[in-house]
Amino acid sequence: MSNRRRLVLRIVTILLMVVSIPLNTQQVHGQEGIVVEDANVAVSFGQSITFSAKIKSSIPIKQASLLFRGVNEDVTRVETVQVAEDGSVSFTYDASLNLFPPFSWIVFWYQATLTDDQTYTSAPITFLYNDDRFPWREMSQANVTVHWYAGDDTFGATALNAAGTGMLVMNEFIPVSLSDPVEIYIYSNVTDLKNTLQFGGEDWTGGHTNPKLGVVLVAIAPGENQSIEMETKIPHELTHVMLYRSLGEKYTLQPAWLIEGIASAMELYPNPDYANALDIASRSDSLISFDELCASFPADAGNAYLAYAQSQSFVTYIRNTYGISGLTRLTEAYSDGVTCELGATNALGTPLSQLDARWRESVLGQNLTGVAARNLSPFILLMILVLLVPIWGAIDLLRLRRKRGSQPS
Ligand SMILES: [Zn+2]
Repeated sequence: MSNRRRLVLRIVTILLMVVSIPLNTQQVHGQEGIVVEDANVAVSFGQSITFSAKIKSSIPIKQASLLFRGVNEDVTRVETVQVAEDGSVSFTYDASLNLFPPFSWIVFWYQATLTDDQTYTSAPITFLYNDDRFPWREMSQANVTVHWYAGDDTFGATALNAAGTGMLVMNEFIPVSLSDPVEIYIYSNVTDLKNTLQFGGEDWTGGHTNPKLGVVLVAIAPGENQSIEMETKIPHELTHVMLYRSLGEKYTLQPAWLIEGIASAMELYPNPDYANALDIASRSDSLISFDELCASFPADAGNAYLAYAQSQSFVTYIRNTYGISGLTRLTEAYSDGVTCELGATNALGTPLSQLDARWRESVLGQNLTGVAARNLSPFILLMILVLLVPIWGAIDLLRLRRKRGSQPS
């Protein structure tokens, strides 16, 4: 099934490259009364989406509407359309003001009230709202596809390997989905990505993931730093997808420090500046209490950076003290919807405020360089182990093992 979905996705991607999408050459029948022909969508990313079709009916149409929404949205937009004598309808949606997330699926259908005063509905049609401003190339392994437009084949292959290595490391800590597709889009610079996110109504945070859609957006320039950037950003963003897939809607109940801490701890290339940021904040007594990092991260860049550094160190401290099962108990406790303070008590027997104090004592009270190196070493060790085996071979083995494990004995 997933292969078929990927094929459809690829076909849609190719179709989108020519901007206009001949969605269905065959007739789309409604419940009796209406037939929708030549349904078409022309996407100009971030600007407009033009829907056109011909609505045919045996008796005259009194009124017709176009209905559409993002597949994950609850609210449906309804637009009245004028029907020409030959049944033609056309509606242009302003996608610069009314935003859809980039690379999300949009579903639409038509409704018409005829002179018999009955309202008829056509079958829904789905299309991908792709960022068609760039000549995307793609490369896939298992359930992961990377898309990029700057850089050579090696660029794509390196990105794919960073994703694979990330998944193998992650697999030790959180459940990793090896079947549902993940799409990773690599923009070559921050401006391109930032524009995309503005089009998509999201804030720029340095990389962006829509965990529900399984879509990861990052900015990585081709060049000598590409591997390091890929090994940092891709596993981080992938962790958001995998956490969402394992927690479902409970993902939103997790404290920001826990989600971001786990994601940051999966970065394969440790950020050398985090230890520095922690050191400075610790000395100047400007550390943020974890209680303040439950709902969200600070908006200003400086404090947000510190929040990431703290969360990574805190999650690593929890893992070193309570083990991986401690982290799992934490996500389970917060899934019950308890307060930030209580979740830690329920999972680890220690309230969050006390855990915060212990972390400051035991991690920040010591020589920081030594602590940082020690905190990160398990990940580095794992990464080295992982790199010794062919990444995608190992993932195939994992998938096979799971398939066998899930077979009834
Ligand atoms: Zn993150």
